[in-house]
Amino acid sequence: MASGNYFDWDPIHDDDDVIRSALEHANAPVTLAALVHLTGDVELLRGDIRVDHSRARDLQCGISTEQQAIVRTRALEVLADYRDRGCPAPPRLATESLREILRFITGQELDEDCVRFLIEESEFENDDAYGVGGFDTIPADIRHRFHVVVVGAGMSGLLAGYRLKQAGLSFTIVERSSEVGGTWHENVYPGCRVDNPSHVYEYSFARHDWPQYYCAQPVLKSYFERCASDFGLRPHILFEREVVGADFDEASGTWDVTLQDRGGTTTTLKANALICATGQLNQPRLPDLDGVGAFEGPAFHSARWDSTLDLSGKRVAVIGTGATAMQFVPEIARQAGEVIVFQRTPPWIYPSPDYRASVPAGEHWLINHVPYYARWYHFLLFWLDGEGLYASVTKDPAWPHQERSVSAANDALRKLMIRSIQRELDGDEELIAASIPKHPPCGKRLLLDDGTWYRTLRRDNVQLVTETIDRIAAGGVLTTDGVEHSADVLVYATGFHASRFLWPMRIRGRDRRDIREHWGDDPRAYLGIVVPGYPNLFCLYGPNTNIVITGSTIFFSECGMHYVMGCIRMLFENGCRSLECRKEVHDAYNVVIDEGNLQVAWGAPNVRSWYKNKAGRVTQNWPFKLLEYWNRTRTPDQEHFHFS
Ligand code: NAP
Repeated sequence: MASGNYFDWDPIHDDDDVIRSALEHANAPVTLAALVHLTGDVELLRGDIRVDHSRARDLQCGISTEQQAIVRTRALEVLADYRDRGCPAPPRLATESLREILRFITGQELDEDCVRFLIEESEFENDDAYGVGGFDTIPADIRHRFHVVVVGAGMSGLLAGYRLKQAGLSFTIVERSSEVGGTWHENVYPGCRVDNPSHVYEYSFARHDWPQYYCAQPVLKSYFERCASDFGLRPHILFEREVVGADFDEASGTWDVTLQDRGGTTTTLKANALICATGQLNQPRLPDLDGVGAFEGPAFHSARWDSTLDLSGKRVAVIGTGATAMQFVPEIARQAGEVIVFQRTPPWIYPSPDYRASVPAGEHWLINHVPYYARWYHFLLFWLDGEGLYASVTKDPAWPHQERSVSAANDALRKLMIRSIQRELDGDEELIAASIPKHPPCGKRLLLDDGTWYRTLRRDNVQLVTETIDRIAAGGVLTTDGVEHSADVLVYATGFHASRFLWPMRIRGRDRRDIREHWGDDPRAYLGIVVPGYPNLFCLYGPNTNIVITGSTIFFSECGMHYVMGCIRMLFENGCRSLECRKEVHDAYNVVIDEGNLQVAWGAPNVRSWYKNKAGRVTQNWPFKLLEYWNRTRTPDQEHFHFS
């Protein structure tokens, strides 16, 4: 995988029939873009074919079936000719032509800043969008002496290791589990899969030819395991060791990091910089209900799935209907005798027919043989789920129906999803009423599904309970209408303590102040990365860097790590030991973030979610377009730091 980047392509040796049959699976806008890239002929975009983005997340961008057929016919001619000419390297496309393709696919004029961002992110003119150069001018022995400790070998921690290795720095990754992968190692519940398109949920340096559009957990787990091996990160990882604390030593400008093994023995590592890559969703949250613990049968949280348990014929009670429950309830319903689902709030679910589909052989062929097809495919997904969706989540203060949606575009999304609910649950008015959320779309994470969830709710052995839970009893769940729902097994799909960032580690910065007390349930950081009072401490996927739907968390971690590397380079360049974010910079930034979060669906006052803390402040999410985070993390500004 490390060497088999799917952004590269193989020459075509196949006959016309093979090409024709692969093109049956072609994405029309992506194919057109790739043809322009291959031929340099922008006239291909100047005919009658136009995109229409009025339907959110439409991969064919509104291009009609007839026009898709025209694109396929043209593509066959161009690809056969390219093959017959011996598959020469395509000419470098002028930036102006790239701009025209971007305009064609997005259906809008983009400002220069956005064009540059999109060209760089999809690596049309460069090959390491998030890499940080400049380390080779620093003597190797100086780089070797700078030791970084990374906490966690999940998605962000492995990424940190890759970049630190690339720069020739010395580092140790500490991982409490026995294997890498973080959330993809820990969450083994049935049906677990990524709910971002796989072709954007990947590292920029390990593009993968994914078997499914939304890959299942075992595929993701093995991807991260292979990255750890292929990029030589394993020798740097200390497994089964937990970081329990870290103390900043002002005299030396270093961190003393305390690790504990499974036997309770502690050791200390010295670090010039500490990178916390512990994620937002690693502390399972049990509900604040009376009687939790009173249930006498097997009871567990979804992130601690008991795979040894045979659910055949059992009555299983499930509390919660979020992203996790939506994935495993359909799976266990096929096995269990009965499943009782307790729903407090119904989720918004966007109809996604390819949610459980495999990528067909023809599409793999296109990805692997048509120059630039993979890059344009990545770009399309990146755009549609990122900047392309932003208008649908942004509040229009003049919109009169704020109780149900935040703007006309958000309302259109709502109507589309209500139609899908009505279609799937046709004839069951009670279930339809129970399944339509009251909060605005994207107020909570927008779930994707191919109709399986609603079909599951209609099964004879599945019961949806919307009555409020009173308490957990020894034999089941009691609701406030006085009914005891007896169960053999109880599963809590009740989410995570997301705002307990870095918890339960005891991290003491300057003045020995513990970050858990400093933050309470209101974590804040500049760019989600650096915190005043904690020199040379960097968070990845930190406060206010989560997304509700617009984008992929890997994008934020890659941008974040790019910034961290820039900070470390700045230390070398300035001949300093440590840097600390200025409080006024951090505070002003957080004001902007808070104002931004009030202008988007997840900040709406009628939304209760894990994105908000007790005071109602959104502590988790990024409120702006992806471009804004990209720009802000490109180059650290010296003026934002104190150096020592
Ligand atoms: P979640 O979205 O926080 O959902 C928790 C569920 O439990 C909600 O339905 C919640 O209801 C319910 N709940 C909590 N306390 C309750 C109580 N006292 N009584 C009744 N119901 C209660 O948690 P999650 O489903 O584990 O998902 C968390 C996040 O993980 C997602 O948003 C997503 O970012 C991530 N995730 C990603 C994937 C993926 O990419 N594959 C898969 C799963 C999860 P309310 O809505 O009323 O609070």
